[in-house]
Amino acid sequence: MAAEYDVLERAGRTGENHEFLLTPGPLTTSKAVKAAMQRDWGSWDQPFIDLTTDICNSLTHMAGGGEDFVCVPIQGSGTFAVEAMLGTMVPRNGHCAVLVNGAYGERIVKIFDAMERCCTVLRSAETDAYDVAALEQALIEHVSITHVAAVHCETTSGVLNPLDAIAVVAARHGRALLVDAMSSFAALPIDVYALPCDGLVSSANKCIQGVPGMGFAILRRSALAATAGNAHSLSLDLQDQWSYMEKSGRWRFTPPTHAAAALAAAIEEHADEGGVGGRGGRYASNHAVLVRGMRDIGFETLLADAIQSPIITAFLEPADPRFTFQKFYDLLARRGFVIYPGKLTAAPTFRIGTIGAIEAQDIRGLLSAVKAVLEEMEVRDASPERTTTAAV
Ligand SMILES: *Cc1c(COP(=O)(O)O)cnc(C)c1O
Repeated sequence: MAAEYDVLERAGRTGENHEFLLTPGPLTTSKAVKAAMQRDWGSWDQPFIDLTTDICNSLTHMAGGGEDFVCVPIQGSGTFAVEAMLGTMVPRNGHCAVLVNGAYGERIVKIFDAMERCCTVLRSAETDAYDVAALEQALIEHVSITHVAAVHCETTSGVLNPLDAIAVVAARHGRALLVDAMSSFAALPIDVYALPCDGLVSSANKCIQGVPGMGFAILRRSALAATAGNAHSLSLDLQDQWSYMEKSGRWRFTPPTHAAAALAAAIEEHADEGGVGGRGGRYASNHAVLVRGMRDIGFETLLADAIQSPIITAFLEPADPRFTFQKFYDLLARRGFVIYPGKLTAAPTFRIGTIGAIEAQDIRGLLSAVKAVLEEMEVRDASPERTTTAAV
């Protein structure tokens, strides 16, 4: 008979953790990733220069990049990388079509507003994937559009947007595609050559399972070479960061040395797990166990299965007035599972991430905790409010 699930013992295997972070990042990292931060690196020393080179080569390879693409790392959270890519790659007199179906798409629009650069916003509902036909129409109508910006996995809802179809349309109409692949890169296959795209960004602390502190962009070499003077910001200028790195092997300005060392360890673990296929396979099985179990309890997912990513899943809150998110959250956290609030405007939801150093047995542990917590809250029916009822 299987031994009783022990969250302290399980989370303890990842270091001094007492709980699992079932969030879209920062997330639960392995012991080896945290151990890699025990050394202090000199940013000008050859070992750190080599480490940076290795990271960049591995990430370019992971993206299917080859010689025509380069990886440019950048200090900061993921948004810094998004802003750096857009500010560097879209010229000051450029015009970007921005696909939006959640908070991260809206953030791209805010970045264009802050940079005072032209963008055309193409919105879809938060519970729908992008409208590829609307994009094609916009590209035909607005000849001035130079670029298309898209979010691969919209972490707000968990929608997986049709990146391949977007890329086909952008290429057919001769526009360069820039992708926010923050929460999908390293777990879902993306090939910058095959797509094609001119750039994608992600960060160290999502599916690669490193720690926060840096992001990176995989950029088409020929496009990047033509971007000198585009950037609106000195510290977010990827062209400048890249040319300095090409010359010296060093980062401009203080690098996040410990985060970079952790990322190098995380990349090694990613390869050991079987690369993108292995990582994505584990997440898919985490996700399948989660959704099956939550539906058995009576919860409903926000999204249709066809557009749901295996990264993060939004569940509708139960209609029972005894359910409050804060109580549910607190009681689950006390049992060692940290979940994530909803971020939707459409419906009250909460989210559960299935990425990080967690396995299907940890998701089963979570499901037992969810059952116990609902019992404690005296919520007997987890089903959401029927939109057809007149109840207010
Ligand atoms: C996490 C995330 C970001 C970046 O968020 P930060 O909080 O700046 O790290 C951007 N886009 C998507 C889709 C994300 O999931």
